[in-house]
Amino acid sequence: MVDVKVALEKCTGCRHCFDVCPVAVFVMHPREEFPKVADDPEIAAKFHFRAEKSVAENGSACILCNACLYECEGSCITIWDDEGNTYQSTYK
Ligand code: SF4
Ligand code: SF4
Repeated sequence: MVDVKVALEKCTGCRHCFDVCPVAVFVMHPREEFPKVADDPEIAAKFHFRAEKSVAENGSACILCNACLYECEGSCITIWDDEGNTYQSTYK
C-alpha cells in the first residue's frame, strides 16, 4: 500500500502540499497540537514557520503524482510505493 509521511519538525506549514494534492492526502493542523515538536533550525534559517503543520492523514489515497514533492519547502515529505521504493521532497 502506498503511504505518505510528513517529518513534522521540518514542516513550515506553507500549505503547498495541501493546495496541490489532487486526492486530499494532507490535512493542516494547528501548530499547538504538536507541543513536543521542535522546529528544525536548518529549515528555519531558510523559511518562515507558520501557525500550522501538515499531517498526511490519507496516505493510502496517494496516486504518486509527485506534485507535493516538488512543492514542499521543508523537504519533509516521504512517500513509499507498493514495491517499497521511497520518494523524497526535492524543493530547494
Ligand atoms: S504525490 Fe501523492 S500525496 Fe503528493 S500530491 Fe500527489 S497524490 Fe498527493
Ligand atoms: S509543503 Fe511541506 S512544508 Fe509545506 S505544509 Fe506541506 S509538508 Fe509542510
